[in-house]
Amino acid sequence: SKPSYKWQRVLLKVSGEALAGDHTQNIDPKITMAIAREVASVTRLGIEVAIVVGGGNIFRGASAAGNSGLDRSSADYIGMLATVMNAIFLQATMESIGIPTRVQTAFRMSEVAEPYIRRRAVRHLEKGRVVIFAAGTGNPFFTTDTAAALRCAEINAEVVLKATNVDGVYDDNPRRNPNARLLHTLTYQEVTSKDLSVMDMTAITLCQENNIPVVVFNLNQPGNIAKAIQGERVGTLIGG
Ligand code: UDP
Repeated sequence: SKPSYKWQRVLLKVSGEALAGDHTQNIDPKITMAIAREVASVTRLGIEVAIVVGGGNIFRGASAAGNSGLDRSSADYIGMLATVMNAIFLQATMESIGIPTRVQTAFRMSEVAEPYIRRRAVRHLEKGRVVIFAAGTGNPFFTTDTAAALRCAEINAEVVLKATNVDGVYDDNPRRNPNARLLHTLTYQEVTSKDLSVMDMTAITLCQENNIPVVVFNLNQPGNIAKAIQGERVGTLIGG
């Protein structure tokens, strides 16, 4: 019989910034390969993994709109397209080590990827394929964190695992305050009332309303992605 892990189906959120690694921009292939290897190790155990990728390493709508005078919606569409580039890079990396992977986009780009179809995404997962959701929610004024919460709820994944460049959520900014403490558990209430910059409000409240726990952890620590997916204690756990 299959050994039982804490999670059976997870939604891994990988920010664009995390994909950039040491590179000043774009994508560090060492990072995508590390993600691919660790995801491979858990899919072999039968855990189903869906991924939402960000695009901040390439383009961020809100700041681009502010700096360039572009209207926000146009800037956000560019940001969403950036996530598709990351998704295809990650897919190609995964497939290079033999993990069957499908990309589904929130708006149609049918020569490049499948359109998002919830039931089909679930079917892929059941067959042991990794599904990467790209283009965020498909709507301007949203974030890929919100896309992660939304897709998690839609496909009945049990947790949002937010892979970042920091060890978790601190009580203060660890870059400015050396005494800042890593918080191991937090309630949604604490996240929103203390304005801890974990996720934007839309994303965190969507998780709260649907009782979706969120784990914030550092993907640069080798083994952490696999640990988080298997439900081992890493980073900060946010829940009810
Ligand atoms: N974006 C959007 N709608 C979405 C998701 C993303 O308009 O549902 C745009 C937005 O401009 C955002 C960019 O895509 O700045 C990249 O996504 P995000 O900033 O969430 O990426 P991350 O911070 O995870 O790298």
